[in-house]
Amino acid sequence: MNVKEDDKKYIANTYARFPLEIVRGSGSLAYDENGREYIDLGSGIAVNIFGFSDREWVAAVTNQLNAFQHTSNLYYSAPCVELAKKLCMRTGMSRVFFSNSGAEANECAIKAARKYAELCGRKNAKIITLENSFHGRTLATLAATGQDAFHRDFLPLTDGFLYARANDTESVYALANGSDIAAVMFECVQGEGGVLPLERDFVKDLEKLARKRDILLIADEVQTGNGRTGRLYSYMNFGITPDIVTTAKGLGGGLPIGATMLGERVKDVLSAGMHGSTFGGNPACCAGAVSILDRIDDKLLDDVMRKSELIISALSGAKGIKSVSGMGLMLGIETERDAGSIITECMENGVLVIKAKNKLRLLPALNIPDELLLKALEIIKTACAKQE
Ligand SMILES: *Cc1c(COP(=O)(O)O)cnc(C)c1O
Repeated sequence: MNVKEDDKKYIANTYARFPLEIVRGSGSLAYDENGREYIDLGSGIAVNIFGFSDREWVAAVTNQLNAFQHTSNLYYSAPCVELAKKLCMRTGMSRVFFSNSGAEANECAIKAARKYAELCGRKNAKIITLENSFHGRTLATLAATGQDAFHRDFLPLTDGFLYARANDTESVYALANGSDIAAVMFECVQGEGGVLPLERDFVKDLEKLARKRDILLIADEVQTGNGRTGRLYSYMNFGITPDIVTTAKGLGGGLPIGATMLGERVKDVLSAGMHGSTFGGNPACCAGAVSILDRIDDKLLDDVMRKSELIISALSGAKGIKSVSGMGLMLGIETERDAGSIITECMENGVLVIKAKNKLRLLPALNIPDELLLKALEIIKTACAKQE
């Protein structure tokens, strides 16, 4: 089998892949089909929180696989309960619905918000999201995503979403005064949109509006969650209490899982038969996630911030670098040269980085060893400094 040729022939052409096949990985190192080593700063898009094939995580998952790999949601099983309990204890949320991806976690949030509004006698209430946001690729989350480029080919859009400008309180108020609003959904740091943190005052204003008007706050923590920004969830950096928190990506440490955490006001709006998922709460995924969550402690989070500062001080003001944005180990680098050619050059020199809009995006494993990080930063700096 020729992987690259057969991939082009048999796999739907929805990805423009880099010319690299990964055959194995260990921690923050990946190896290609020729045995070449790469320092991975993308973590499978913020998924492999402890890198490739982390031993403790593999042990937690395989222990569960040896007990049982799946059962339907028609029966009780311990791993998903344990995970839900830990998530609630650490966030103050009240209940969790499990699914298999970020988009699905957001779908559940959207359904819960619509149902909440309906129970309050506000049928057909709308959800405000932000311009330049990203919430997923399913039809509802596509509509929630505030970027025309994602919508264009798939009209008609799912109804019920309004778009406000990020960091513009007035634009949110204008929409809220013109329509019945069920919820405001936002990423505290817009990821796909270019690694842009929201302003603290704006996020605070969203909370004020929500409390005053009985509007729900939905924090999309799919990318920002699970320690990535230096707190367990990024909203914790902003001093707000969302009503619904969604997460996925890093939660499973590399296995697919989505979680929709429901706060006190909405914990009971979804009842038996209203929502479901065959794979949701899969015991192997949940056992892996429990082991991940247990390791995201204050010590790790302090280290995330220390590494973040190390990256920011290494890159800020460096030749060819215009700006560094983001929080924790979710950083965007605006470069003078085209980001695509820098990425290619980094790959040729053994470093994997990805893009967000026109920026380089760094999403390393939270436990990446300093020496690998420093080595990768040197390679990035050299590529950025080069003249076109
Ligand atoms: C990746 C992402 C999603 C979608 O997650 P999938 O697992 O790809 O469905 C939703 N929201 C945000 C903020 C994301 O970064």
